[in-house]
Amino acid sequence: MNEVEVLIIGGGPIGLACGIAAQQAGLSYVIIEKGCLANSLYNYPVNMTFFSTSERLEIGGVPFMSLNPKPNRQEALEYYRRVQESYQLNIKLFETFEKAERLGDQRYAVITSKDRYIARNIIVATGFYDIPVLMNVPGEELPKVRHYYKDPHFYAYQKVLVVGANNSAVDAALETWRKGAEVTMVITGTEIGQRVKYWVRPDIVNRINEGSIKAYFQSKVTAISEHAVDILTPDGLVTVQNDFVLAMTGYMPNFELLKALDIQLSDNEKRFPSFNHETMQTNQPGIYLAGVVCGGMDTHTWFIENSREHAGKIMQNIVVSNK
Ligand SMILES: Cc1cc2nc3c(=O)[nH]c(=O)nc-3n(C[C@H](O)[C@H](O)[C@H](O)COP(=O)(O)OP(=O)(O)OC[C@H]3O[C@@H](n4cnc5c(N)ncnc54)[C@H](O)[C@@H]3O)c2cc1C
Repeated sequence: MNEVEVLIIGGGPIGLACGIAAQQAGLSYVIIEKGCLANSLYNYPVNMTFFSTSERLEIGGVPFMSLNPKPNRQEALEYYRRVQESYQLNIKLFETFEKAERLGDQRYAVITSKDRYIARNIIVATGFYDIPVLMNVPGEELPKVRHYYKDPHFYAYQKVLVVGANNSAVDAALETWRKGAEVTMVITGTEIGQRVKYWVRPDIVNRINEGSIKAYFQSKVTAISEHAVDILTPDGLVTVQNDFVLAMTGYMPNFELLKALDIQLSDNEKRFPSFNHETMQTNQPGIYLAGVVCGGMDTHTWFIENSREHAGKIMQNIVVSNK
């Protein structure tokens, strides 16, 4: 049985930051990552550009140099590999956390897809990118409906419906349109999201205004079939011909995993997990949250920039508790 002081679930930027902080504090630790290093970033659209400048994505004091002020996915992957090279973190890739049981003596028995561990503390840094928010409409299960967008070339010369009005939707709409797709957007609100990257927002607004990209505002998809999509608009039901639906309707943390660890969630639709903002400790002793998972359904609250500091807070609390 591997016994560690700290077991970190998730090898994204914040899980890695926690590993670094544990290493620097002289605590034994292991990071369990179900996919590759920085798995969520690996699964981002291939051409994505971060809204943050590179130095705001730095962890462990490793400098992040990028060609332009805002780095792209490729550079970020390169960077987090460099972090791993620098710190030689104890990370287990392609190993999934399955469950943890509290032992009588303030320790947890942890079972993963490959191993068993005893951990005094657990940090949940599982992000939010694994579970898409569904539209819950008939036809959503069709293979032409995608909740993850990767590469625009695939959609060239196809009729693409993009659902959503935030960064992911806007990037997908503009990129696929520029590669020859006929793009229609369905947007629940009255405008393109205000959080859309400031240098991208005018581009999409102009494409919509000039009619290159068709947008239905205050509208929602009501049904999807093999060759068409039904949209409820303020002017009534519209059916558009369609080859692919890119449902960029957001993602959410793994609430089942949080519940299985007996972490309390608020009973409103936000499902905020309960934790102390000073220490990041949840209602369960020795179980901490770090990174974007902290925000419940408000997934835009925490990002790399402002959640890097969670690692230091947690480790400080663990060190103090150990004294
Ligand atoms: C398209 C896009 C662009 C973004 N741009 C920016 C930006 O410019 N600046 C910024 O600060 N933030 C940005 N964000 C947000 C930021 O990327 C995320 O907030 C960031 O990835 C959060 O890091 P994290 O370590 O908390 O979570 P993640 O990076 O999501 O890491 C969680 C990890 O946990 C792993 N995991 C999940 N479940 C398990 C399990 N059961 N067992 C083992 N491992 C598990 C996942 O595979 C994943 O690797 C962006 C997000 C998206 C989607």
